[in-house]
Amino acid sequence: MAPTALPALEIKSLTKRFGSKTAVADFHLTLPPGAFYGLLGANGAGKTTTMRMIAGLLQADQGSICVYGHRVETDPKAVKAITAWLPDEPLLYDKLTPMEYLEFIAGLWAVEASVAEKRAEELLRWMDLWDERDKRCETFSRGMKQKTALAGALLHDPKLLLLDEPFSGLDAAVARQVKELLVEKTKEGCTIVLTTHVMEIAERLTERVGIFHRGHLLADGSLEELRAKTGRPAANLEDIFIQLVDEASVSSPA
Ligand code: ATP
Repeated sequence: MAPTALPALEIKSLTKRFGSKTAVADFHLTLPPGAFYGLLGANGAGKTTTMRMIAGLLQADQGSICVYGHRVETDPKAVKAITAWLPDEPLLYDKLTPMEYLEFIAGLWAVEASVAEKRAEELLRWMDLWDERDKRCETFSRGMKQKTALAGALLHDPKLLLLDEPFSGLDAAVARQVKELLVEKTKEGCTIVLTTHVMEIAERLTERVGIFHRGHLLADGSLEELRAKTGRPAANLEDIFIQLVDEASVSSPA
């Protein structure tokens, strides 16, 4: 019998409270390698808190998170080596050029110089930043900075990519490029978890979504599964999202 592949991400009973407020309540998720998962929810639903816990930047109150079998709580170095986290407002060192920034990131991740150089060129070309590679990031537009940060996140070839609102600030053409790049990455086996408020993006890009509401997972599945769950075979993701969140708000008002 073939050995069972380790899940790329396995989250059990994840819970986080801030004072009396429960930001994430008993969240479970298992994703195989190459999955593309969307975390959806209104402002304050708990998406970023969840992502930060997966990235090891925030300690959970309860539960466990494993990335390819490495526990975030007890083996954070092993997890960080194969994970990349792109926050919604990434921090770039403005005085560096994209090339210098990528060299710096390569150093942090101990990526061998010749490999880093090749990957940096591929990524900057893909992002249409090759001609800007020697200009300081302080002169860049928001979208250019976002693309530089994404190149930095991809430089060490992560197996798990956590993207918080990666398309905000990107124009349509750039957004399309980035979407293509992300789909390509999943085909190579990289698992992606992204948050977005744009339902069309989630519907077109991800194969499965989780809908959060006030820290609780209301529903999880593919669009087809969510259509079946809500009994609306022709509904789009936005219709389903609004229905589920409205129902939850009525049954448990804030
Ligand atoms: P958005 O779509 O607005 O980014 P979100 O779904 O990412 O929202 P979170 O940032 O995870 O939401 O926040 C979930 C809840 O936890 C919110 O009520 C928020 O106020 C609270 N929260 C998040 N971080 C902290 C913190 N450091 N201290 C106190 N409360 C926090």
